[in-house]
Formats: sequence, structure tokens, C-alpha cells
Amino acid sequence: MTREIYCLRCPRGCLLQVEISEAFSTIQGNSCKLGEEFAIQEIRAPRRLFTSSVQVKGGKFPLVPVMTSAPILKEDIPRWISLCHSLSLEAPIEPNTVIARDPFGDGIDLITTWFA
Ligand code: SF4
Repeated sequence: MTREIYCLRCPRGCLLQVEISEAFSTIQGNSCKLGEEFAIQEIRAPRRLFTSSVQVKGGKFPLVPVMTSAPILKEDIPRWISLCHSLSLEAPIEPNTVIARDPFGDGIDLITTWFA
């Protein structure tokens, strides 16, 4: 089975052709070693940097943008969304404030990316 995926490691966006078999996988189309690593991760356990927003009370705006401190497993996105919906912060908020430290035990925090 062959899968085509775009490498997301840099803006060049190489189109990778990944031949998957039971014994091994071959990867073509990558312009550097990072593309190979990305393809392997994308097949085994795809990850994405998660961004969202969290409710703020008493601030200039009702929401503050947030992101995870590292890429999370794609399958974990629903529970990060639920976490964001469950939180309510009090202004003032500074950028890079950890608002949930390692909530799911994988070493990844939820941090603010702007003022509120
Ligand atoms: S394979 Fe290398 S050059 Fe191509 S998009 Fe990925 S990181 Fe960028």
C-alpha cells in the first residue's frame, strides 16, 4: 500500500510517497532526513501542535489564545478540546503562562500565547 503525505516539518512541504508493507516502509520524495522521520511518525503515531482558546473573566476580551507546549498525539485532540472548554481564567493573563501543567501525564503543558 502506498500513501502520499505532505511533510509538515518546514515550509517547503515535500510530497512524500510512503510504501508500507508488513516488514518495512520505504519513503520517497523527501528532500532531507527530517522528511523521513516525519513520515515514520505520521504512520506510527501522528502528532500536531494544538491551538485553541480559553474563557477569561474580567479581561479586555472574553477569550485568550492557547497552545500546547509540544505536539500532541492526534488521537488526544478531543480531550485537549474538553480541557479548554472546562477552564476559566481571571484576567490579567500574560503570554507564555502555563494554565494546565502536564494535565494528561505526557509532559505537555497548555500555555497562553497572548495577553488577556
Ligand atoms: S522533507 Fe525536509 S525539506 Fe522537505 S518539507 Fe520535510 S523538512 Fe522540509
